[in-house]
Amino acid sequence: MLYDVVIAGAGPVGLFLSCELAQAGCSVRVLEQAESAESPLKRLPLGLRGLNAPTLEALDRRGLLDAVAAAQVLKPDKGTPPPGTAHWLAQPRPLGGHFAGIPFALDNVDSGRWNWRVPTPVGTQMAIELQALEAVLTERALGLGVHIDRGCAVQAVQVEEAQVAVQTTTHGTVHGRWLVGCDGARSTVRKQSGFSFEGTDPEFTGHSLLIELEDPSMLTPGRQYTAHGMCNFNPPGVLALADFDGGAGHRTALDLPSAQALLRRVSGRNATITALHLATTWTDAARQASAYRNGRVLLAGDAAHMHSPLGGQGLNLGIGDAMNLGWKLAAVVRGDAGEALLDSYQAER
Ligand SMILES: Cc1cc2nc3c(=O)[nH]c(=O)nc-3n(C[C@H](O)[C@H](O)[C@H](O)COP(=O)(O)OP(=O)(O)OC[C@H]3O[C@@H](n4cnc5c(N)ncnc54)[C@H](O)[C@@H]3O)c2cc1C
Repeated sequence: MLYDVVIAGAGPVGLFLSCELAQAGCSVRVLEQAESAESPLKRLPLGLRGLNAPTLEALDRRGLLDAVAAAQVLKPDKGTPPPGTAHWLAQPRPLGGHFAGIPFALDNVDSGRWNWRVPTPVGTQMAIELQALEAVLTERALGLGVHIDRGCAVQAVQVEEAQVAVQTTTHGTVHGRWLVGCDGARSTVRKQSGFSFEGTDPEFTGHSLLIELEDPSMLTPGRQYTAHGMCNFNPPGVLALADFDGGAGHRTALDLPSAQALLRRVSGRNATITALHLATTWTDAARQASAYRNGRVLLAGDAAHMHSPLGGQGLNLGIGDAMNLGWKLAAVVRGDAGEALLDSYQAER
């Protein structure tokens, strides 16, 4: 079967885009390399993601906000956040977020003065588990008739005159009139389709850890900058450490002795880790594809742009990509618009 659009990656951006396209009448197939939609890295506490106002508005316009809000981490009427969620959620004076690490209080934010913003009942922020958000989007996509193959990685891409042949690990070659790479920062689609990905190399390595401490009071809750990096501690055992002295770019998750040494060096405190449950790394590498479209292949989300997760932007930017691209690609597929419309996607994003 020739699909209108094949999407690589069933992360939040690929799923949201699949809904946009299917809602507009396109046949869509999503190819996802992971066997399971579930992962401890997508659940609390390390899977916590902050949604911003444009994302909430996008979800609202698509009738998805109630389902997402039902799964949010801190509901307005429930005072106590789940253990290990971000420290800022538990503050007596709620924080509105941060800009590049500089925190600001929610009651200092007057969204009524954002006069560029169309009046909306939608709030300005929400904290959610990535896995819960993906579950809501998957349910919507399946309901709209999107075909999702899990455990099916894109291996190679061959652009032909009127279609794209996508070679997969498990389902042979899948054909689409268009292909969108939503397959994350290490995108195979991007690498296979001649896009350059330019920017700056990482300068430090960040580590997200789920640990148990002998004495949690040894660390100060919240984000602290030290002579050796950044220590963001969310009691009782969620830790983000940025190591400014240890080199950058390596992806080896820490074992307990290395986590112990790093914590003491970065925090300057003699804290003792008694158990290490989960560890993952990230960096401050910042890159952007020099084009978002190359013929019949397009990029969205982390496949198109990547940067440090400290600013909490990637998912929100990616949902914006999908909102911008979805209706345009659907209009081109239906023949309601010429391909030139797609070039406005890159320009506007
Ligand atoms: C610790 C941390 C905290 C963050 N906090 C925030 C936040 O608060 N707010 C925010 O906006 N962003 C945040 N981000 C960033 C956000 O998680 C990402 O920007 C977002 O997940 C990108 O979505 P995506 O769908 O583009 O890519 P991904 O979520 O990476 O999804 C890509 C999908 O493609 C699949 N895939 C990869 N290769 C292939 C292949 N060859 N074939 C098929 N499938 C493939 C992957 O398995 C994956 O499911 C954070 C990131 C981290 C690491």
